[in-house]
Amino acid sequence: MQQMRFKAYNLGNYLNLPQVQQYLTPEQKHDIRVVGTVLPFKVNQYVIDELIDWKNVPNDPIYTLTFPQKGMLLPHHYNAVSDALNSDMPKEELKTLLYEIRMELNPHPAGQLEHNVPELDGIKLTGVQHKYRETMLFFPAHGQTCHAYCTFCFRWPQFVGMDELKFAMRETELLIEYVKQHPELSDILFTGGDPMVMNTQRLSDYIEPLLDSELSHLQTIRIGTKALSYWPYRFTTDTDADELLRLFEKIVKSGRHVAIMAHFNHYNELKTEAVKEAIARIRNTGAEIRTQSPLMRNINDHPRTWAKMWKLQVKLGCIPYYMFVARDTGAQHYFSVPLHRASQIFRKAYQTVSGVARTVRGPSMSAGPGKVQVLGTAMVGNEKVFVLRFLQGRNPDWVHRPFFAKFDTDAVWLTDLVPAFGEEKFFFEEEYSFFCGNTDEPQQLSMAG
Ligand SMILES: *Cc1c(COP(=O)(O)O)cnc(C)c1O
Ligand code: SF4
Repeated sequence: MQQMRFKAYNLGNYLNLPQVQQYLTPEQKHDIRVVGTVLPFKVNQYVIDELIDWKNVPNDPIYTLTFPQKGMLLPHHYNAVSDALNSDMPKEELKTLLYEIRMELNPHPAGQLEHNVPELDGIKLTGVQHKYRETMLFFPAHGQTCHAYCTFCFRWPQFVGMDELKFAMRETELLIEYVKQHPELSDILFTGGDPMVMNTQRLSDYIEPLLDSELSHLQTIRIGTKALSYWPYRFTTDTDADELLRLFEKIVKSGRHVAIMAHFNHYNELKTEAVKEAIARIRNTGAEIRTQSPLMRNINDHPRTWAKMWKLQVKLGCIPYYMFVARDTGAQHYFSVPLHRASQIFRKAYQTVSGVARTVRGPSMSAGPGKVQVLGTAMVGNEKVFVLRFLQGRNPDWVHRPFFAKFDTDAVWLTDLVPAFGEEKFFFEEEYSFFCGNTDEPQQLSMAG
């Protein structure tokens, strides 16, 4: 296979790209500059040459996925930044303006930074989130960037320098000790950013100690990544790609399950020879690939897109896993799809695939109390309702218990919903506000993560 060297583009050099020069109008180039000043922007040569169909720009889904779009900022924010750039506003003043705008984009939906961070002998493990009993999230310090940035990314504050890697952790010893002290853990999920930006040696330094026989309760090592989409060469022609596959083999040989949690938003990300070869090579190690994606307006808000993507994934040997709802942060207003439409899109797509692709669950909201799936809408007596259930709950006892919310055409997130049948609270609310050590104000529900 032909080798490609990793080269990234951002606000500093995107104007040099021949495709940008050929296909974008001066207005579009300005829009990128304005929106990219507020929200993160980074693409690379592979995305530009192999994934984006430039003849289809600006409607191309991968273009919308990676290049900042005018509509991602509300008009008054857009105009303020555009005026600032056109008038060469002094640096300090611009910084203040950007900070103010970013603070209005709900940068921490969920109090993600403060909640779910466990302690070990009095030390806060800032690179760990342990919210659901069996699975702990781990944010390795060196995996906190990505090969390109998604325009809808909910970790955007980290990429514009607002969060200063508060999530990330360097100490492997603390990680190991924590796992040792928590026999209820069966899964560890490496996440980021993208842990696959790390070289194999680094990744191996984190993973090898976990294979210790003392940690036999750890059954599954998951790696959340978008590298199959944004940089499949990580698994094929990069200098340490073979070593990486060897590492997967080693975990498998230790008797554990390796799950690559692959982020794909559109079937166009599955069309290249590079991604097909990467998938085949990963599967050859004994690792499984499970796929997940949020549902995003302007990118993949059509049942045919999902059905085609799931079918292709199954054909390539991947297992469809989650469809998520757009989170309440950043450019949510540009990407969000109302819950009732999300539910229809899921159902129509699900109906057209065979049972082996129906491993997928969604649409699911990763909210404060847990992962809440919209099962659909129904008429109960004279009332139209949403039928919901927890796929994951802060209290495991909440899982898989159907509950009901009043139907609402505009609702896009759990916090927009109220209980059906005139009930005052959802069944979990009292206990949830107890978890938060706080009041039972409805906005408490938005504490996700
Ligand atoms: C999604 C998620 C997990 C993993 O949940 P599974 O349903 O087991 O895939 C773990 N922790 C957090 C905080 C999550 O959001
Ligand atoms: S790959 Fe994930 S973390 Fe990286 S930009 Fe996309 S959504 Fe954000």
